[in-house]
Amino acid sequence: MSPPWSKPLDVDRLAETQAGLDFAVALAELPRLRSRLASVEGNVHGRVHFAREGGVAVAELTMSGTAKLACQRCLEAMDVAVESRVRVGLISAQAEINRVPQDLEPMLAPEGRVSIGELVEEELLLALPIVPLHEEAGECAVAGSTPGVTDQQEEPATQRPFERLGELLKR
Ligand SMILES: [Zn+2]
Repeated sequence: MSPPWSKPLDVDRLAETQAGLDFAVALAELPRLRSRLASVEGNVHGRVHFAREGGVAVAELTMSGTAKLACQRCLEAMDVAVESRVRVGLISAQAEINRVPQDLEPMLAPEGRVSIGELVEEELLLALPIVPLHEEAGECAVAGSTPGVTDQQEEPATQRPFERLGELLKR
């Protein structure tokens, strides 16, 4: 059975009744997010409230949670806090984009339908880093200067045997 947040919703009907819907979404189940990021886990939960403003259906999305991503430097897990509140203007065709008030983020809802998963995914695609990296050097298992250190260690190791060989031949 597919989760309730994946169900396409009738945007006009929800805007008319000013419906509010609670949700909880596992990030690993969002296909576009999963294809963008090397590794994504964690959960977000929140609420979508529908309304109508100036002839445009509006979804007000509030969500919080934690995304568990893989740091692209050390490949270790890292947590990214998600705390979003966004107002989305839902349009059924690209041509209607001019009708969306400026303080709303326009989003396409083909045939007047959108799922909570699509709203959440759209916002997360904007909010989460494409290349996640540990911010604090201490948290990252790979320190910034590591490549240089490795070179210095390897160089003597490859040269020393020949130096010693030369010394041995002199005797
Ligand atoms: Zn790292």
